[in-house]
Amino acid sequence: MIEIKDIRKSYKMGDQSVDVLKGISLQIERGDFVAIMGPSGSGKSTLMHILGLLDIPTSGSYNLNGREVASLSEDELAVVRREEVGFIFQQFNLLPRMEAWQNVSLPLIYSEDGFSFDKAQVLLDKVGLAERIHHKSNELSGGQQQRIAIARSLINNPRIIFADEPTGNLDSKSEKEIMEILRKLNEQGITIIIVTHEEEIGQQAKRLIRLRDGVIQSDERLQPLSSAGSEKTVRELRPPKFPVREMVEHLHQGFQTLAANKVRSGLSMLGILIGVAAVVGMLALGTGARQSIEKQLSSLGSNLLVLRAGNVRVGGVVQESGVRIRVTLDDVATIKSQIPAIKDVSPSSSGRGQVTYLNKNWNTSVMGVAPSYEQMRASTPIYGRFFSEEENQRRALVAVIGTTVARELFGEKSPIGEMIKINKVNFRVIGVLPEKGAAGPQDQDDRILVPVVSAMYRLFGKNYVDSVDIEVRDANDIPDVQDSLQELMNKRHRVPVSAQGDAFNVFNMADIQQALNSTSQTMSMLLASIAAISLVVGGIGIMNIMLVSVTERTKEIGLRKAIGARRRDILLQFLAESIVVSVCGGLLGIALGVGFSLFISKVVGWTTVVSPSSVLLSFGFSALIGIVFGSYPASKASKLHPIEALRYE
Ligand code: ADP
Ligand code: MG
Repeated sequence: MIEIKDIRKSYKMGDQSVDVLKGISLQIERGDFVAIMGPSGSGKSTLMHILGLLDIPTSGSYNLNGREVASLSEDELAVVRREEVGFIFQQFNLLPRMEAWQNVSLPLIYSEDGFSFDKAQVLLDKVGLAERIHHKSNELSGGQQQRIAIARSLINNPRIIFADEPTGNLDSKSEKEIMEILRKLNEQGITIIIVTHEEEIGQQAKRLIRLRDGVIQSDERLQPLSSAGSEKTVRELRPPKFPVREMVEHLHQGFQTLAANKVRSGLSMLGILIGVAAVVGMLALGTGARQSIEKQLSSLGSNLLVLRAGNVRVGGVVQESGVRIRVTLDDVATIKSQIPAIKDVSPSSSGRGQVTYLNKNWNTSVMGVAPSYEQMRASTPIYGRFFSEEENQRRALVAVIGTTVARELFGEKSPIGEMIKINKVNFRVIGVLPEKGAAGPQDQDDRILVPVVSAMYRLFGKNYVDSVDIEVRDANDIPDVQDSLQELMNKRHRVPVSAQGDAFNVFNMADIQQALNSTSQTMSMLLASIAAISLVVGGIGIMNIMLVSVTERTKEIGLRKAIGARRRDILLQFLAESIVVSVCGGLLGIALGVGFSLFISKVVGWTTVVSPSSVLLSFGFSALIGIVFGSYPASKASKLHPIEALRYE
């Protein structure tokens, strides 16, 4: 069954190499009960680890059940560890967070079945611990823990059990119980190989091998070999389908680990949480702003054009020295009289203004507009009246104020007829505009309207207007009107042919919509890159904590490998854990982001829209972060060597 020839093992210590096993050859028959004895440091454990496939010899051959071990791949080795051998350690090596039955059936999650309460119960009964089935290892005595470890080694019906000083940490009563269990197992046909330094235990075996300084000193048969031992059909490698059961188990354990280290997990989630909250919140704000601006635009109607002067100079020797082309009040009058398709025009000239009333001060947007604005922009005052064309022409100092301005300057008092100063010029308030609400972050009620001529000459000291709103009678005429406008303006200002395309811009609503879209796209890109950076930072946080977790649980990884976990199993386990962390962070982040946008819309009054796609996107992203940044720690864990991991302190 076992045949080793000239097995040697040496360790490199600095530039020296220490020979621990110096050429060991032996055969072990099926059904035997072999005790290996020897002084401490003689290489007993090293030999056991090699026999139990936890370690590889430096040289020599090992044939197990007719197969040369050196020729097996890592995955095949894992399957042999899982299916054919059981290992019992001096330190028991139970997983502390699990109950007895879970510890016993742990090897099953690496075969197809997953944890099995029933199978664990049968085995725990066999080792006399049926009533401790729900206890965790820290609630059990050493002898009880070792009996659980024996039950665990039996879960896959192994043909051989290796026990490295299984009673070394136990009192004499537990020692007797353990030996009794092993003896019974041997009677049932399982080959037992046990390391011990107690003569009394060695004498109970059927064959006693003494080791000293890495060589076999003596080998005697104490009892005859009775049965031929049991046969066992070995399950083959699992089919390469995705192990759903195992993954669910890993996710479940990931949650438990998370819950066991609440503060640490919370902190490591923080980066992802903030990143996702930022994505959701900012997208909600951006979408909200765009929607409210779009709504406003569509409420203006599709018959609106806006005329503005471009940045073109004419008349100088070089371009820079010329006079900049501007739209004048004359232009506005001519446009209205010469293009019949135009229903109405409203020139405007605006700027910021410092407004005072008595001791109150307020900084707001001051717009000079024509009386036609009242009708074109649905701005009939709720109190008082709008100014007339006559007032506009004589540059009257009258103002119609928005509700925000009214509230800030006058509070509850009626503003009609009061004198205010705009940039130190006295104006009389004659009306209050209807409330329009906010358009994204912009408060549309925080403005003052004054006659455009007064604004140009009395406030801003300029003889041109900034833009002209033009209302066309029929939307079908818009392209024609746009052309006529360009032509008329270019002619009036004698624009050279080379600059004619750029001198004046006429926007229609579709243009404005498009400009808006491209602006909001740029904004979205910007937000997305900020969010991406914060998510990467969050990912690094997760990677960091996962590396700590791998180091902390090196022993656990060693044990899992010893009971048959393949690389892929360990990889999945740690990936699942980092996905749990990042997805939990992501979910909390989504909650925070949604909460934030609700808060903004309730308290600050901006429109916010949380779109399902942004939530899905951030959720997917956080899961991806977990996979990407969990991969390195997980692969590091999966590559650990079983025996080195088990020895790790
Ligand atoms: P024991 O018979 O007490 O179980 P071991 O097989 O554990 O002895 O160890 C045999 C010798 O090998 C000891 O001298 C020990 O120091 C050495 N040894 C074991 N593991 C390592 C290692 N990973 N690196 C270096 N030396 C080791
Ligand atoms: Mg030892």
